[in-house]
Amino acid sequence: MHTCRICFNTLSSSKITVKNLAYKDTKTQSIYCYCNRCSALNLVSTDAFVNETINFDFFGRNRLAKTSLNYKFQKIRSSFFLGNFTVFGLLLAMIFDDPYSLKNYKKYLSKESYSLLDIGCADGKFIFDISYFNKNSKFLGIDPFINQSYTDANVTLTSNTLLLNEDKFDYITLNHVIEHLDNPEEILKSYIPYLKKDGLIIIRTPITSNPIYSIFRKSWVGFYSPYHRTIFNTKSLSYLIKKIGFQEVYSTTDTTIWSIISSIFFIMEIPFRYHLLIYLVILPIFFPIIAIFHILIYFLNIKGKGDMLFLIIERDNLFEISK
Ligand SMILES: [Zn+2]
Repeated sequence: MHTCRICFNTLSSSKITVKNLAYKDTKTQSIYCYCNRCSALNLVSTDAFVNETINFDFFGRNRLAKTSLNYKFQKIRSSFFLGNFTVFGLLLAMIFDDPYSLKNYKKYLSKESYSLLDIGCADGKFIFDISYFNKNSKFLGIDPFINQSYTDANVTLTSNTLLLNEDKFDYITLNHVIEHLDNPEEILKSYIPYLKKDGLIIIRTPITSNPIYSIFRKSWVGFYSPYHRTIFNTKSLSYLIKKIGFQEVYSTTDTTIWSIISSIFFIMEIPFRYHLLIYLVILPIFFPIIAIFHILIYFLNIKGKGDMLFLIIERDNLFEISK
């Protein structure tokens, strides 16, 4: 018997089997079981390789983003999303889209200067981008897989949680992190003391309550199996944030063209590691189709019906009083 990671209910027998096309051994499969109480899909495979992936990080082990060549291109694309129009930026934005949801961060991190703690910052691509345009703010990225800390005038990236000290942050962000955790409630609770009283937590994660999941199902890139332990929907996320004493301030979706492109490649059983390369090869021929995908995703996001959720939450004061 397996129990749900979110509500600890016994999981139902309703399951979905997903090929591990993101894993090094693409012949393996993962099983996700549905929770009848909170609607979360829980990875239940007990194979040895699943446990192995707990300690296997696939972004943080790379060099820090700022020293890599592709970050130079990323910076041009990010400038575009953060309001600096260039033709090259527009082209890169069309090809690679906005995987860090910079458009939404630009809109909702509206303070002149602030402090931001990014949990699970990986190689720091998000922090470097956002810090580049907020020179008056302070950024701390924590990730257990960073093996070489980084510090400059306003950015620190480290695996050392002792650096948290007494600091309180205006924002805590978790970008595509909670779906990787075996104990999301515990991890979220452990960082709440570092949030200012009126601070906000921003969570981004794949969700199933949308047409993209309904179309692709087991080939949907949101599974990214076996790395994604819990696949949420709006119901299971509400359940989780209530349990930690928070409430929703705002939510929207930040789906990109990668949701459609990678899911199509997954239908064709193409391993994830080849997606970018194949995409770049076919791009000259399929550019008009990519443009149509952009329009489709634009409307899905406007309606809040995309497959990646951008959720802003705050402390629920009634929860504090009732404790
Ligand atoms: Zn549940």
